[in-house]
Amino acid sequence: RAKSDGRGIWRYFEPAMNQRMHERRQLELDLRRALISDQLELYYQPIVDVASRRVKSFEALLRWDHPQRGQLSPDLFVPLAEEIGLIVPLGDWVLRKACMEAAGWPEEIGVAVNFSAVQFQSRPLAPQIASALQESGLRPDRFEVEITESVLIKDKEATLATLRALKALGVRIAMDDFGTGYSSLSYLQTFPFDKVKIDRSFTCNLDQSRKSNAIVKAVVSLCDGLDMAVLAEGVETEAQLEALRREGCSQAQGFLFSRPVAAQELPELLQRLNQTPAITIAAE
Ligand code: C2E
Ligand code: MG
Ligand code: MG
Ligand code: MG
Repeated sequence: RAKSDGRGIWRYFEPAMNQRMHERRQLELDLRRALISDQLELYYQPIVDVASRRVKSFEALLRWDHPQRGQLSPDLFVPLAEEIGLIVPLGDWVLRKACMEAAGWPEEIGVAVNFSAVQFQSRPLAPQIASALQESGLRPDRFEVEITESVLIKDKEATLATLRALKALGVRIAMDDFGTGYSSLSYLQTFPFDKVKIDRSFTCNLDQSRKSNAIVKAVVSLCDGLDMAVLAEGVETEAQLEALRREGCSQAQGFLFSRPVAAQELPELLQRLNQTPAITIAAE
């Protein structure tokens, strides 16, 4: 039972809180070490053209190979990295690594990199990206910045200036997880997006829910009018892909094509996805 001992009822929560704080502190120490001891890696997931089924680009997704806990998902440590400010050097590592690796891919294949709101606010992004592009030799039009709505709600004017600087650099900008955050339509009008990525919570119900179909259809027609490309995240079945094709969604990403894979698996994945005809006709 909570006990008021001058420090208030918090005493009741102390053991559990201490445990959690201890775990967090440990993860924090581990993460600082991870950055300097080569435990981080980028995985890549293909972004596919719906009509041709060919790979257009890859999204870079951060993985942490924790010495005791094994491979950790970014959902587990990116928020922590944001809180302790480590996202800035970490994000810089991601940016440079992604550019370096993408520079070695076929010319027509691009790379998409996620940027968190904290990264966005903590330093001028355009010069940082310009330097990574220059260092790697990657053409700006092969690079795409992915941001979520949380970036946009902070300081509208500063964000707009940054996005314009990015456009001037020649890189593309995508709005990630569309439909899950604040999703104000005015964002689509105000900010110069090249692409909208429909969150997978809509994709996963495609063809089972008339509502999801209607939402995808509406976003597609909205983006058509705004000259923005539309991508559906989290495509897992042929039926979902078929529904997307029907609704006019031009790009897709999801386990149907491939899970995110390590960089060294990309040549084989590209070979499989881009050279195998969608329909294989048995010979003779
Ligand atoms: P996101 O940018 O929306 O990335 C898509 C997430 O959906 C990835 O999770 C991917 O593995 C997962 N996914 C893709 N296709 C499917 C599918 O068909 N079904 C299901 N169920 N899931 C699918 P992941 O890699 O765990 O990343 C989670 C989030 O962490 C990302 O969401 C992104 O917001 C963040 N993140 C990842 N890498 C970075 C990074 O380098 N920097 C920053 N700031 N954030 C990152
Ligand atoms: Mg993303
Ligand atoms: Mg997303
Ligand atoms: Mg996400």
